[in-house]
Amino acid sequence: MSRRKPPVCLHQEITLTLTGQSHTGDGVGKYEGFAVFVPGGIAGETVRAKVTKVKPTYAHARIVRILKESPDRVTPPCPIFDRCGGCQLQHLAYDGQLKMKTRLVRDNLERIGQLKEVSVRPVMGMRDPWRYRNKAQVPFGEGEGGLVAGFYEQGTHDIIDMESCLIQREESDEVVRTVKDIVRELGIPPYREKDHTGVLRHVVTKVGANTGQLMIVLVTNGPDLPHRDELVKRFVDRFPQLQSVIQNVNSKRTNVIMGEDSRTLWGEDTIIDTIGDIAFAISPRSFYQVNPEQTEVLYREVLKAADLKGGETVVDAYCGIGTISLFLARHARRVLGVEVVDEAIADAKRNARLNGIENVHFAVGKAEDVMPWWYAQGVRPDVIVVDPPRKGCDERLLDTIADMKPERTVYVSCNPSTLARDLRILADHGFTVEYVQPVDMFPHTVHVECCVLLEKNRRYV
Ligand code: SAH
Repeated sequence: MSRRKPPVCLHQEITLTLTGQSHTGDGVGKYEGFAVFVPGGIAGETVRAKVTKVKPTYAHARIVRILKESPDRVTPPCPIFDRCGGCQLQHLAYDGQLKMKTRLVRDNLERIGQLKEVSVRPVMGMRDPWRYRNKAQVPFGEGEGGLVAGFYEQGTHDIIDMESCLIQREESDEVVRTVKDIVRELGIPPYREKDHTGVLRHVVTKVGANTGQLMIVLVTNGPDLPHRDELVKRFVDRFPQLQSVIQNVNSKRTNVIMGEDSRTLWGEDTIIDTIGDIAFAISPRSFYQVNPEQTEVLYREVLKAADLKGGETVVDAYCGIGTISLFLARHARRVLGVEVVDEAIADAKRNARLNGIENVHFAVGKAEDVMPWWYAQGVRPDVIVVDPPRKGCDERLLDTIADMKPERTVYVSCNPSTLARDLRILADHGFTVEYVQPVDMFPHTVHVECCVLLEKNRRYV
């Protein structure tokens, strides 16, 4: 590819019409054929923008003035939207966000997967896209005016104080406010990252959206927690739905929020939540989907795509705590789940027992190692579900799917670009992509989840 000199230079002001949206949510336009990314810009807008960065193949520019505004532009409801970085799309009306996400998925399939004919259905959004998260992890520290608790300012480790987060459930705002009041009153020292002193590092809340059960986790920089009993008493008085108060000790200098040592200060070790008619026990460190309402929407899509009649063998690869496996188990003959984190498999087994489900079998290991082994043992699933992390599936796993020749493969993905890459590989192995159904699990962020149905080509034996 021949490279020409970029047609813009640093600090230059340009007029630009934005034609698309990048995967990080920036508006994108072409200036004399050269890609320019504009944070806060919306496809369809014309802006006056000042160039802030020039690279050989693209530039970044900051909006100076909007010359033609998108009808989808709204004032972000959150006052700290610009500083926080947790949400990227609050300046876009929710309908506009959904349209953007459908387009993003389609673009990736066409550009990376060369899949032009595939049916991409409109994103399934939320009726009320606020206050959906069931888990909050709020750092505590010292600011100029004393105690602060909120979020790390984008790209830094400075904690900005926050009163309320519009994508978190109200309970978690209330817990954080309560802890702040108590900590101030009793003088419990917050953690100071720069010299690794102080006590309280994070407050983590988990809420069972369908059961209302509440867990509060206090992450401390060592085993000591002054005024422990008083803290617990105030929580119990304040939150009738409280089920569990945990102290988690993390004395390491690390960005990882929780340490390995969890102690139950009051109540149960876990809370329970349900997805459909399956109950899940959630411990302080176990992974659980953060938007329970949309998780159910997604899993119903998986069930629909799997089209189970009751006699099937199903493989659930990258199964986590067995959520999809258990959701499908009552509709199939048996489900085999595989996951690399052994703690997650322990949770999966416990959750199977909790629900009295016996036709599931869980294995610890890399899916790309365990699946070929299952194949060698003669396992021939009728349906394979994969739900890999952002980097997508290992090619050995995709080759094993091709060997196993399931009737249906359901690919659940949180990253449209690796999804497109992997669908191309499966298409080349003789599978047809029937449809792609995106689901909005994380409103106001750029993330989008997809449920894809692939079928074995008829000619393929
Ligand atoms: N299906 C689950 C979790 C999906 S998240 C749910 O819906 O809740 C992806 C999971 O893949 C994580 O639990 C991660 O630990 C696991 N994982 C990552 N790499 C893996 C690999 N190579 N083999 C198996 N599991 C893996």
